[in-house]
Amino acid sequence: MNASDALDQYRNKRNFDKTREPAGDEQHAGDAPVFVVQKHDASTLHYDFRLELDGVLKSWVVPKGPSPDPAHRRLAIRVEDHPLAYAQFQGEIPPGEYGAGTVERWDYGTWEPMKDPGEGLDSGKLEFRLFGKKLRGAWVLIRMDKKPDEDQENWLLIKMKDAFAKA
Ligand code: MN
Repeated sequence: MNASDALDQYRNKRNFDKTREPAGDEQHAGDAPVFVVQKHDASTLHYDFRLELDGVLKSWVVPKGPSPDPAHRRLAIRVEDHPLAYAQFQGEIPPGEYGAGTVERWDYGTWEPMKDPGEGLDSGKLEFRLFGKKLRGAWVLIRMDKKPDEDQENWLLIKMKDAFAKA
């Protein structure tokens, strides 16, 4: 699947005449892949966690936000891939549009996978290091088994024990 096919779901949900969110035709030119956490005050406040991979931002909704405490297992619901330019986005999504509310860039930086990230996404265990302002060190995303009638992919975002972990 190329990046533009991967963004169909993203584009279908949005009217780019009305929202200032990026339609996403551009590619990242930097050396290291980026990550971003956006605090999104929509119908319910949540944090959007995004990792650049394969020309898009792989994305999860983390209702409670990331925690530096390895004892905290934070639910992370996998959502549609977002365009790379979304990592720069903050501001208002207008009333009536998908995700209406305020988006604030809460953390931003680069990341590196600790093992093959494509295999990690497929197998349901993605281990990586974050180099952000707030989020540092080793983290893991683990996919939970789906219940029979469940559509969404539920993952857990967990801080791994290292010098950046805080109880
Ligand atoms: Mn959101």
